[in-house]
Amino acid sequence: MLDKKVVVITTGGTIAMRYDEATSGLLPAVSGQELMNAVPELKNVCKIEVVEFSNIPSPHMTPKMMKALGDKVDEIATDKNVAGIVITHGTDTLEETAYFLDLYIKTEKPVVFTGSMRGATEIGFDGARNILNAVKVASTETVISKGVMVVFNDTIHSAEDVIKTHTTNVDTFKSPFSGAIGYVDSDKVIFKRDRVNRVKIDTNNIEESIYLIKCFTGMNSDIFDFLIDKKIAGVVVEGFGRGNLPPLIVDGIKSMIDANIIVVLVSRVIEGRVLDVYSYIGGVKPMKEVGVILGGELTGQKARLKLMLLMGRYRTKNEIEKYFD
Ligand code: ASP
Repeated sequence: MLDKKVVVITTGGTIAMRYDEATSGLLPAVSGQELMNAVPELKNVCKIEVVEFSNIPSPHMTPKMMKALGDKVDEIATDKNVAGIVITHGTDTLEETAYFLDLYIKTEKPVVFTGSMRGATEIGFDGARNILNAVKVASTETVISKGVMVVFNDTIHSAEDVIKTHTTNVDTFKSPFSGAIGYVDSDKVIFKRDRVNRVKIDTNNIEESIYLIKCFTGMNSDIFDFLIDKKIAGVVVEGFGRGNLPPLIVDGIKSMIDANIIVVLVSRVIEGRVLDVYSYIGGVKPMKEVGVILGGELTGQKARLKLMLLMGRYRTKNEIEKYFD
C-alpha cells in the first residue's frame, strides 16, 4: 500500500444521490464520507482524505465554480503527502469541468474525475467501482504528465478527448476520435499511450460573457444581432462538417467581428478538425479571411471554456488564435 494519500474531492452528481419518495426522483443526499464508506476496498490501495467541495447536480456547475475547484486542487496538491486527487462529479457536465481544470490547474500530480450513472440506492450502482478505479489511477506513480483524466467503467480517458455519449448507459464516456489512454484491470493500471500537446492557460481570470451557438439548416443572423446588442466578449459557433456555415448567418458573423467580438468556429460533428477547404459562401475559407478563429478538434462546450480562460488574459485575436488547433 502506498504511503502517500489520495484526496477525494466530492462535488455531487448522481453518485451522491438517493431516491426521494416525496419528489419521486433522485436528489443529492449522500455525504462525501458516506460515499467513501461504500468502497471498503479503498483501504487496500492507499490512505484517503475526503474534502466536500459541494453537493450539486452537475447541470448547476458554473465556470466560476470550476475555477474555485481548480484553485482548491492546486492548494491540496502542494501537500507533499498527497499522491493524487480524485474528483467525484455529476456526469452531465463532467467533461467540461475536467477540461477546464486540464487547462487551468498548475499541479502535475494526477487529477482524476469520476462519477456514476446510477444513484447510490439503485441496483447495480456503478459509483463504488468507479471511485476505486479512480483512486488506483490517482495513486499510480507513472501517471505524471498525462493531464487531467476521467476514469469510468474501467477505462481511462484524457479530459481533452472525452465525451458523454449516452444518457443512461454505464459505458457512457468515450473518446471517439483519439481513443482511451488506458484501463484499470483487477491487478494494475495500464496506460496505452501518452498525452501530447497539452495546452495550459496561465490566468487567474475568466471572461464569463462567452456564448455557444449551434448552426441549423435555414438559420439566419437574428441570434447574432441579439448578441451584438448584448455586447458579449466572444462566441463559439458550431458549424456543419468541416466548419461550414449556412449562408444567411455570414453577415451576422462579420458584424460580430466588426464589433470586436471574438468568434471561434468548431464543428457539430464529434470527430475531426475544422479547416478552410471550402470557398463557397459560408465555407471556412472566406470565414477565416474575415477573422474567424478555427477551434480544431474541440467540441463546442470545450472550446467555450477554453475561450473563457483565454479571454481572462488576452483580448486580441492574434494572441487567442495561437492557443487553438
Ligand atoms: N444529472 C446528474 C448530474 O450530472 C447525472 C449524473 O451524475 O450522472 O449531476
